[in-house]
Amino acid sequence: CKLREEVDDCECKIESIDKLNNYQVHPRINTIVQKDYFRFIKLNLNKICQFWTDDARCSLKDCHVKSCNQDDLPASFRNIINQQDENAQAENCEQSNPLGHINSSLSDESIKAFEDMKKYDDAQDNFCEPDDETHAQAEYLDLVLNPERFTGYKAPHAHKIWNSIYRENCFENTDRIAYGPEKNTCLEKRFFYRLVSGLHTSINVHLSARFLHKGLLDQADVWGPNPEEFKKRFDPETTNGLGPQWLKNLYFIYLVELRALAKVAPYLEKETFYAGRSQVEDEEAKFAVLDLLKTIKNFQYHFNETRLFRGNPIEAKTLKEEFQTKFRNITRIMDCVGCDKCRLWGKVQTLALGTSLKILFSGKISSDNANSKNSFQLTRTEIVALFNGFARLSNSIAEIENFRELLSRSTTET
Ligand code: FAD
Repeated sequence: CKLREEVDDCECKIESIDKLNNYQVHPRINTIVQKDYFRFIKLNLNKICQFWTDDARCSLKDCHVKSCNQDDLPASFRNIINQQDENAQAENCEQSNPLGHINSSLSDESIKAFEDMKKYDDAQDNFCEPDDETHAQAEYLDLVLNPERFTGYKAPHAHKIWNSIYRENCFENTDRIAYGPEKNTCLEKRFFYRLVSGLHTSINVHLSARFLHKGLLDQADVWGPNPEEFKKRFDPETTNGLGPQWLKNLYFIYLVELRALAKVAPYLEKETFYAGRSQVEDEEAKFAVLDLLKTIKNFQYHFNETRLFRGNPIEAKTLKEEFQTKFRNITRIMDCVGCDKCRLWGKVQTLALGTSLKILFSGKISSDNANSKNSFQLTRTEIVALFNGFARLSNSIAEIENFRELLSRSTTET
């Protein structure tokens, strides 16, 4: 089961990915994202949209994101917040006291220069525009408390966002978006399109799987699958025959992120996943991660990243930089999403994809999965996003199986 040179054609049988995911990967990744280390992420949902000024925030009830109380957070994150406050105060103090600079020794300056250089070096690998976690508006959010589901966010605003995202891939003509690039477009651009389309599919599968069914009269509202919504979005009849290809793109991005996780496994195996609420919980988190990494190890070669960005080294380098810039713009576009809940999950999932691309293309992890070089670094936020983003894709694949059953049951009943 290998991805052909074409990238567009995956020789993998969808059924074999279903089997791997639904029985092995999905239960494991689901356990991981419930753990303290993985459920809290620090993001700034109030960043200003850089692309247009009319970024109206919608007031739909289901777009609301619940904030965390400081007291709900595990100890280690509370400590980080306190530490950051202290650092900010110390910095302010130093800035208002010029003597501080005169007194600072040469070695402090060299350390700072070294740190700046390192930051610059890390930024070269990044495919995402990271949120500044020390910003006053950045806050820890509980992803379990704020599940991705139907919010009612729709056209024209949602279309404006999707169109801008696809246009980053040089689509002059938005009519072509749904069809994808022409066959003769270069491999990397087709790759890019399939990732975005796969992400789009995953989001739309989730909103169909956790749809709001309004309660009648005095009955409560219920969240649950809506097979008609799913059918409308992916059935060949209602999508000009394109729905099945969009679904395949979900399997494609799943294989790409799975490969990234497996490739970075030697690095992750050394992490502790410490959150500090309970030792048992932290040990369980570590065990669950090791268990998942072991499970996916044998399935990672369905996608081969070395086929991309090769050929003439200068052209390949330029293409990769172009790709990186475009992807960074996509992460910036997330700040323009008008619905907070969609913005939260949009940020998490684009960061997961960007982190996967960093793992696959930074050139700092050897492709035979052996030693990851010391210079390769992931932040906690990148790790949390990577697991949660992959968990979303895994969940979508499991939901598709569920929809297949629901739809075949309703056809046999009628
Ligand atoms: P859209 O999904 O908006 O698609 C626009 C057009 O793109 C379609 O008409 C079709 O031609 C094409 N298209 C559709 N799917 C694909 C695909 N997979 N690949 C290629 N082309 C495609 N809504 C929620 O309810 N909950 C959420 O959590 C949520 N999160 C979102 C996050 C982001 C970042 C964005 C941009 C939107 C989010 N939405 C969410 C909105 C949701 O994705 C849809 O935009 C909305 O439901 C309107 O759907 P639509 O039928 O008009 O088509």
